[in-house]
Amino acid sequence: MMQAKLTFLGTGTSLGVPIVGCSCNVCTSPDSKDKRLRASALVEYGGLRILIDAGPDFRYQMLRQNVCALDAIFLTHNHKDHTGGIDDVRALNYIARQAVAIWCEEPVYKSLKQSYGYIFSDIKYPGAPEVNIHLIDERPFIIYPGHSDKVLDWVHDVGYRYRLADGSLVPTGEPVAIAEKADDAGYSGLCKGLGGDGVEIIPIRGLHDKMPVLGFRFGNIAYITDMSSLPHSELNKLKGLEHVSLNTVSYKPHHSHFSLDEALELAGRIGARNTWLTHLSHTFPRHSEFEEQLALMCLQKGIKNKVRPAWDGLEIVG
Ligand SMILES: [Zn+2]
Ligand SMILES: [Zn+2]
Ligand SMILES: [Zn+2]
Repeated sequence: MMQAKLTFLGTGTSLGVPIVGCSCNVCTSPDSKDKRLRASALVEYGGLRILIDAGPDFRYQMLRQNVCALDAIFLTHNHKDHTGGIDDVRALNYIARQAVAIWCEEPVYKSLKQSYGYIFSDIKYPGAPEVNIHLIDERPFIIYPGHSDKVLDWVHDVGYRYRLADGSLVPTGEPVAIAEKADDAGYSGLCKGLGGDGVEIIPIRGLHDKMPVLGFRFGNIAYITDMSSLPHSELNKLKGLEHVSLNTVSYKPHHSHFSLDEALELAGRIGARNTWLTHLSHTFPRHSEFEEQLALMCLQKGIKNKVRPAWDGLEIVG
Protein backbone atom coordinates (compact mmCIF):
# COMPACT_ATOMS: atom_id res chain seq x y z
CA MET A 1 0.00 0.00 0.00
CA MET A 2 1.19 3.54 -0.76
CA GLN A 3 2.61 5.58 2.05
CA ALA A 4 0.72 8.62 3.30
CA LYS A 5 1.99 11.56 5.31
CA LEU A 6 -0.33 13.71 7.39
CA THR A 7 0.59 16.98 9.08
CA PHE A 8 -1.73 18.37 11.74
CA LEU A 9 -2.18 22.08 10.93
CA GLY A 10 -4.66 22.68 13.74
CA THR A 11 -5.63 20.52 16.72
CA GLY A 12 -7.87 22.92 18.65
CA THR A 13 -11.58 23.07 19.24
CA SER A 14 -13.80 25.65 17.51
CA LEU A 15 -12.47 28.58 19.58
CA GLY A 16 -8.87 27.39 19.35
CA VAL A 17 -6.44 27.32 22.29
CA PRO A 18 -5.71 29.74 23.89
CA ILE A 19 -9.23 31.17 23.92
CA VAL A 20 -9.49 34.93 23.62
CA GLY A 21 -9.68 36.45 27.09
CA CYS A 22 -9.09 33.19 29.01
CA SER A 23 -6.42 33.17 31.71
CA CYS A 24 -6.65 29.48 32.67
CA ASN A 25 -3.59 27.31 33.22
CA VAL A 26 -3.74 25.87 29.67
CA CYS A 27 -4.47 29.11 27.82
CA THR A 28 -1.47 30.75 29.55
CA SER A 29 0.89 27.81 28.99
CA PRO A 30 4.26 28.75 27.46
CA ASP A 31 4.46 25.32 25.73
CA SER A 32 4.04 25.70 21.94
CA LYS A 33 2.09 22.39 21.96
CA ASP A 34 -0.63 24.19 23.93
CA LYS A 35 -1.18 26.65 21.03
CA ARG A 36 -3.86 24.97 18.96
CA LEU A 37 -5.33 26.46 15.78
CA ARG A 38 -8.69 25.31 14.44
CA ALA A 39 -8.80 21.66 13.23
CA SER A 40 -7.19 21.01 9.85
CA ALA A 41 -4.68 18.60 8.31
CA LEU A 42 -2.46 18.46 5.24
CA VAL A 43 -2.13 15.07 3.55
CA GLU A 44 0.46 14.01 0.99
CA TYR A 45 -0.67 10.81 -0.72
CA GLY A 46 -0.16 9.29 -4.16
CA GLY A 47 1.35 12.48 -5.55
CA LEU A 48 -1.55 14.58 -4.27
CA ARG A 49 -1.47 17.36 -1.71
CA ILE A 50 -4.84 17.46 0.02
CA LEU A 51 -6.05 19.84 2.70
CA ILE A 52 -8.73 18.58 5.06
CA ASP A 53 -10.90 21.54 6.11
CA ALA A 54 -10.24 25.24 5.56
CA GLY A 55 -11.30 26.97 8.77
CA PRO A 56 -10.71 30.54 9.98
CA ASP A 57 -6.97 29.80 10.43
CA PHE A 58 -6.57 28.60 6.81
CA ARG A 59 -4.42 31.58 5.72
CA TYR A 60 -2.04 31.36 8.66
CA GLN A 61 -1.86 27.57 8.38
CA MET A 62 -0.84 27.82 4.70
CA LEU A 63 1.81 30.42 5.59
CA ARG A 64 3.12 28.49 8.59
CA GLN A 65 3.43 25.26 6.58
CA ASN A 66 4.74 27.08 3.50
CA VAL A 67 1.96 25.69 1.27
CA CYS A 68 1.33 27.52 -2.01
CA ALA A 69 -0.45 24.80 -4.00
CA LEU A 70 -3.13 22.25 -3.23
CA ASP A 71 -4.64 19.53 -5.44
CA ALA A 72 -7.81 19.38 -3.38
CA ILE A 73 -9.60 20.57 -0.30
CA PHE A 74 -11.80 17.98 1.44
CA LEU A 75 -14.48 19.36 3.75
CA THR A 76 -15.61 17.14 6.63
CA HIS A 77 -18.75 19.20 7.33
CA ASN A 78 -20.07 22.74 7.22
CA HIS A 79 -19.20 24.27 10.56
CA LYS A 80 -17.38 27.57 10.38
CA ASP A 81 -14.33 26.30 12.29
CA HIS A 82 -13.88 23.99 9.24
CA THR A 83 -15.06 26.18 6.34
CA GLY A 84 -14.54 29.78 7.52
CA GLY A 85 -11.35 30.29 5.48
CA ILE A 86 -12.73 29.49 2.02
CA ASP A 87 -12.53 33.13 0.89
CA ASP A 88 -8.74 32.98 1.25
CA VAL A 89 -8.36 30.34 -1.48
CA ARG A 90 -8.07 33.40 -3.75
CA ALA A 91 -4.34 33.36 -3.00
CA LEU A 92 -4.09 29.85 -4.48
CA ASN A 93 -6.12 30.98 -7.53
CA TYR A 94 -3.62 33.78 -8.17
CA ILE A 95 -0.65 31.39 -8.05
CA ALA A 96 -2.03 28.37 -9.92
CA ARG A 97 -4.43 30.17 -12.29
CA GLN A 98 -6.81 27.35 -11.53
CA ALA A 99 -9.97 26.94 -9.56
CA VAL A 100 -9.44 25.13 -6.27
CA ALA A 101 -11.06 21.69 -6.27
CA ILE A 102 -13.29 21.24 -3.24
CA TRP A 103 -14.62 17.77 -2.43
CA CYS A 104 -17.63 17.65 -0.11
CA GLU A 105 -21.10 16.22 0.42
CA GLU A 106 -24.17 17.80 -1.15
CA PRO A 107 -25.53 19.32 2.10
CA VAL A 108 -22.14 20.99 2.65
CA TYR A 109 -22.23 22.38 -0.90
CA LYS A 110 -25.73 23.77 -0.32
CA SER A 111 -24.56 25.45 2.89
CA LEU A 112 -21.51 26.89 1.13
CA LYS A 113 -23.80 28.42 -1.51
CA GLN A 114 -25.72 30.14 1.28
CA SER A 115 -22.66 31.30 3.24
CA TYR A 116 -20.63 32.28 0.20
CA GLY A 117 -23.29 33.32 -2.31
CA TYR A 118 -20.82 35.62 -4.11
CA ILE A 119 -18.55 32.65 -4.98
CA PHE A 120 -21.35 30.72 -6.66
CA SER A 121 -23.39 33.50 -8.27
CA ASP A 122 -23.66 33.58 -12.08
CA ILE A 123 -22.38 37.14 -12.29
CA LYS A 124 -19.29 37.26 -10.15
CA TYR A 125 -17.59 40.13 -8.44
CA PRO A 126 -14.13 40.47 -10.07
CA GLY A 127 -11.59 38.61 -7.98
CA ALA A 128 -14.07 36.36 -6.16
CA PRO A 129 -12.63 32.97 -5.18
CA GLU A 130 -12.74 30.30 -7.89
CA VAL A 131 -13.71 26.81 -6.76
CA ASN A 132 -14.85 23.63 -8.47
CA ILE A 133 -17.09 21.47 -6.36
CA HIS A 134 -16.91 17.67 -6.52
CA LEU A 135 -19.71 15.88 -4.71
CA ILE A 136 -18.92 12.82 -2.64
CA ASP A 137 -20.59 10.65 -0.01
CA GLU A 138 -19.34 7.83 2.18
CA ARG A 139 -18.41 5.61 -0.78
CA PRO A 140 -14.74 5.37 -1.83
CA PHE A 141 -13.84 7.65 -4.74
CA ILE A 142 -10.90 8.26 -7.03
CA ILE A 143 -8.84 11.35 -7.79
CA TYR A 144 -6.60 11.46 -10.83
CA PRO A 145 -3.41 13.46 -10.23
CA GLY A 146 -2.70 15.94 -12.99
CA HIS A 147 -6.31 15.72 -14.18
CA SER A 148 -6.46 19.42 -13.50
CA ASP A 149 -9.27 21.86 -13.99
CA LYS A 150 -9.11 24.49 -16.73
CA VAL A 151 -6.68 27.37 -16.51
CA LEU A 152 -8.05 30.71 -15.45
CA ASP A 153 -7.36 33.92 -17.33
CA TRP A 154 -7.51 37.22 -15.48
CA VAL A 155 -9.39 39.93 -17.37
CA HIS A 156 -9.00 43.49 -16.11
CA ASP A 157 -12.15 44.82 -14.41
CA VAL A 158 -13.98 41.59 -15.26
CA GLY A 159 -12.32 38.93 -13.12
CA TYR A 160 -11.43 35.39 -14.06
CA ARG A 161 -12.61 33.78 -17.28
CA TYR A 162 -11.72 30.57 -19.07
CA ARG A 163 -10.04 31.39 -22.39
CA LEU A 164 -10.98 28.81 -25.05
CA ALA A 165 -8.80 27.71 -27.96
CA ASP A 166 -10.57 30.13 -30.33
CA GLY A 167 -9.70 33.01 -28.01
CA SER A 168 -13.20 33.48 -26.64
CA LEU A 169 -13.70 34.05 -22.93
CA VAL A 170 -16.30 32.19 -20.92
CA PRO A 171 -17.48 32.75 -17.36
CA THR A 172 -16.13 30.32 -14.83
CA GLY A 173 -19.40 29.11 -13.29
CA GLU A 174 -19.19 25.37 -13.78
CA PRO A 175 -21.73 22.59 -13.33
CA VAL A 176 -21.11 20.52 -10.25
CA ALA A 177 -18.99 17.47 -10.97
CA ILE A 178 -19.87 14.12 -9.49
CA ALA A 179 -16.86 12.26 -8.18
CA GLU A 180 -16.04 8.95 -9.79
CA LYS A 181 -16.89 6.22 -7.35
CA ALA A 182 -14.46 3.38 -6.75
CA ASP A 183 -16.09 0.14 -7.90
CA ASP A 184 -15.19 -2.04 -4.99
CA ALA A 185 -13.68 -1.39 -1.62
CA GLY A 186 -10.29 -2.84 -2.45
CA TYR A 187 -8.58 -0.11 -0.41
CA SER A 188 -5.37 -0.59 -2.39
CA GLY A 189 -4.67 3.13 -2.80
CA LEU A 190 -3.98 3.06 -6.54
CA CYS A 191 -6.70 2.40 -9.12
CA LYS A 192 -6.31 2.08 -12.87
CA GLY A 193 -8.62 3.96 -15.15
CA LEU A 194 -9.14 7.02 -17.34
CA GLY A 195 -5.79 6.26 -18.97
CA GLY A 196 -3.79 6.78 -15.81
CA ASP A 197 -3.32 5.99 -12.18
CA GLY A 198 -5.97 7.31 -9.86
CA VAL A 199 -5.69 7.63 -6.11
CA GLU A 200 -8.41 5.99 -4.08
CA ILE A 201 -9.77 7.86 -1.08
CA ILE A 202 -12.01 6.18 1.48
CA PRO A 203 -14.48 8.45 3.28
CA ILE A 204 -15.65 7.41 6.74
CA ARG A 205 -19.26 8.20 7.69
CA GLY A 206 -19.89 9.56 11.16
CA LEU A 207 -22.45 11.65 13.01
CA HIS A 208 -21.75 15.00 14.71
CA ASP A 209 -24.79 15.08 16.96
CA LYS A 210 -27.36 14.45 14.18
CA MET A 211 -25.29 16.00 11.38
CA PRO A 212 -23.68 13.53 8.95
CA VAL A 213 -19.94 14.22 8.62
CA LEU A 214 -17.06 12.56 6.81
CA GLY A 215 -13.65 11.39 7.93
CA PHE A 216 -11.09 10.16 5.38
CA ARG A 217 -8.71 7.23 5.06
CA PHE A 218 -5.48 7.55 3.05
CA GLY A 219 -3.65 4.21 2.97
CA ASN A 220 -2.72 3.41 6.55
CA ILE A 221 -3.76 6.77 8.00
CA ALA A 222 -7.32 7.84 8.83
CA TYR A 223 -8.36 11.34 9.86
CA ILE A 224 -11.53 11.64 11.91
CA THR A 225 -12.81 14.81 13.55
CA ASP A 226 -16.12 16.28 14.77
CA MET A 227 -17.91 13.00 15.37
CA SER A 228 -20.00 11.91 18.34
CA SER A 229 -20.81 8.50 16.88
CA LEU A 230 -19.45 6.18 14.23
CA PRO A 231 -21.79 3.55 12.74
CA HIS A 232 -20.50 0.05 13.46
CA SER A 233 -20.48 -0.72 9.73
CA GLU A 234 -17.78 1.94 9.16
CA LEU A 235 -15.30 0.09 11.39
CA ASN A 236 -14.58 -2.21 8.42
CA LYS A 237 -12.97 0.75 6.67
CA LEU A 238 -10.66 1.31 9.64
CA LYS A 239 -8.92 -2.04 9.87
CA GLY A 240 -5.13 -2.36 9.91
CA LEU A 241 -4.36 1.33 10.45
CA GLU A 242 -0.98 2.66 11.49
CA HIS A 243 -2.48 6.00 12.63
CA VAL A 244 -5.95 7.35 13.33
CA SER A 245 -7.05 10.73 14.66
CA LEU A 246 -10.13 11.04 16.86
CA ASN A 247 -11.81 14.15 18.23
CA THR A 248 -12.65 14.87 21.84
CA VAL A 249 -13.47 18.11 23.63
CA SER A 250 -14.17 17.14 27.24
CA TYR A 251 -14.15 14.50 29.96
CA LYS A 252 -17.94 14.82 30.21
CA PRO A 253 -20.38 13.48 27.60
CA HIS A 254 -20.91 16.03 24.83
CA HIS A 255 -23.79 16.19 22.35
CA SER A 256 -21.65 16.55 19.22
CA HIS A 257 -18.16 15.25 20.09
CA PHE A 258 -16.74 12.10 21.65
CA SER A 259 -16.06 12.45 25.36
CA LEU A 260 -12.56 11.37 26.33
CA ASP A 261 -13.84 7.99 27.57
CA GLU A 262 -15.76 7.44 24.32
CA ALA A 263 -12.69 8.36 22.25
CA LEU A 264 -10.52 5.92 24.24
CA GLU A 265 -13.09 3.17 23.93
CA LEU A 266 -13.26 3.74 20.16
CA ALA A 267 -9.46 3.86 19.91
CA GLY A 268 -9.43 0.40 21.49
CA ARG A 269 -12.05 -0.91 19.06
CA ILE A 270 -10.32 0.52 15.97
CA GLY A 271 -7.00 -0.86 17.16
CA ALA A 272 -4.74 1.44 15.13
CA ARG A 273 -1.11 1.28 16.24
CA ASN A 274 -1.30 5.00 17.13
CA THR A 275 -4.33 7.14 18.01
CA TRP A 276 -3.95 10.91 18.02
CA LEU A 277 -6.53 13.05 19.80
CA THR A 278 -7.49 16.30 18.12
CA HIS A 279 -10.08 19.14 18.30
CA LEU A 280 -8.87 19.56 21.89
CA SER A 281 -10.12 22.23 24.27
CA HIS A 282 -8.64 23.94 27.33
CA THR A 283 -10.74 21.59 29.48
CA PHE A 284 -7.88 19.11 29.26
CA PRO A 285 -4.62 19.81 31.12
CA ARG A 286 -1.46 21.15 29.51
CA HIS A 287 -0.08 18.94 26.72
CA SER A 288 2.67 17.16 28.69
CA GLU A 289 0.40 16.44 31.64
CA PHE A 290 -2.40 15.29 29.33
CA GLU A 291 0.00 12.89 27.60
CA GLU A 292 0.91 11.27 30.95
CA GLN A 293 -2.74 11.13 31.97
CA LEU A 294 -3.68 9.35 28.72
CA ALA A 295 -0.94 6.74 29.15
CA LEU A 296 -2.29 5.95 32.64
CA MET A 297 -5.91 5.81 31.45
CA CYS A 298 -4.96 3.41 28.62
CA LEU A 299 -3.19 1.18 31.13
CA GLN A 300 -6.24 1.16 33.40
CA LYS A 301 -8.61 0.44 30.51
CA GLY A 302 -6.38 -2.26 28.99
CA ILE A 303 -5.85 -0.34 25.73
CA LYS A 304 -2.56 -1.65 24.37
CA ASN A 305 -2.02 0.72 21.46
CA LYS A 306 -0.72 4.24 22.00
CA VAL A 307 -3.17 7.13 22.46
CA ARG A 308 -1.64 10.60 22.60
CA PRO A 309 -2.74 14.20 22.12
CA ALA A 310 -1.81 15.54 18.67
CA TRP A 311 -0.26 19.00 18.37
CA ASP A 312 -0.02 21.62 15.63
CA GLY A 313 2.86 20.70 13.31
CA LEU A 314 2.90 16.99 14.20
CA GLU A 315 3.77 14.84 11.15
CA ILE A 316 2.74 11.21 10.94
CA VAL A 317 3.68 8.74 8.21
CA GLY A 318 2.11 5.37 7.54
ZN1 LIG B 1 -15.06 21.57 14.71
ZN1 LIG C 1 -8.47 28.65 28.95
ZN1 LIG D 1 -18.30 20.71 13.83
